[in-house]
Amino acid sequence: MTLLEVDRLSFHYPGREVLHEISLALEPGKFYGLLGSNGSGKTTLLDLMIGNLRPTNGGVFLHGKPLPSYPRRKLAREIALIPQEFRAGFDFSVFEVVLMGRHPYIPRFGAPDEDDLAIVQEAMEAIGVAELADRPVTALSGGEKQRVIAARALAQNTPILIMDEATANLDVLHTRQIFNVVKKRVKKQSVTVIAAIHNLNQAAAFCDEIFLLKGGKIFAQGPAEDILVPEKIFDVFGVRCRTGWNEFSGSHQVSLQWKTS
Ligand code: ADP
Repeated sequence: MTLLEVDRLSFHYPGREVLHEISLALEPGKFYGLLGSNGSGKTTLLDLMIGNLRPTNGGVFLHGKPLPSYPRRKLAREIALIPQEFRAGFDFSVFEVVLMGRHPYIPRFGAPDEDDLAIVQEAMEAIGVAELADRPVTALSGGEKQRVIAARALAQNTPILIMDEATANLDVLHTRQIFNVVKKRVKKQSVTVIAAIHNLNQAAAFCDEIFLLKGGKIFAQGPAEDILVPEKIFDVFGVRCRTGWNEFSGSHQVSLQWKTS
């Protein structure tokens, strides 16, 4: 069953094609990884999937209906985004920012009900930011802000979650925490996740399926053990590696040749 479909989608920035005839289908209860070198179009593709950009050709379909046919509030109950960066313009508290995740559910001019508040508290606790609840977001570190924004997306409680390098600023412990919270939602609530990830081992550990982008096209697609292999990694990133099952990680893993001299 397809939840979100990208159909022969192409996208141009003025004078430049960034994505060319991309087709992919996302199913419920799967964790997808979107990998590719810097500038390969990952953020652009994710922005198209959430309707922040419109395709030049082709389309994005949610439950079989074109994305633009969804009113904004309805779409916000279907897809949440954890963006690469969060720019806090105002002195909102952490609690207020996470509560924004409930806005698509709260009637206009209405107030959050008990369920909304419980969901906000649960999301803050799952991500470990509950103790920051009263702090202004402008006074947080980059990593703390990133975790707050992850909690906001979780509070949105959507069947689809898009993560755009959501843990790029985080240490390994907090990275692992967010990815495990999200993976639990994939398994227990059949949430669909698509995440742009740079760390190949993180992708290998968490993703059921990986899309590898190169030159604006999907270069390869499949489970980590078929996609994160030396030839493909060299083709896309130009770095040599060895790959295989790693008992301690409990997953396929990649050992990179870091030193070049
Ligand atoms: P990635 O997320 O894989 O690093 P992006 O989707 O951010 O890649 O960018 C894909 C390409 O589109 C890059 O070459 C980038 O320079 C270009 N690009 C991104 N945003 C714009 C923009 N607003 N105008 C023109 N080109 C852009």
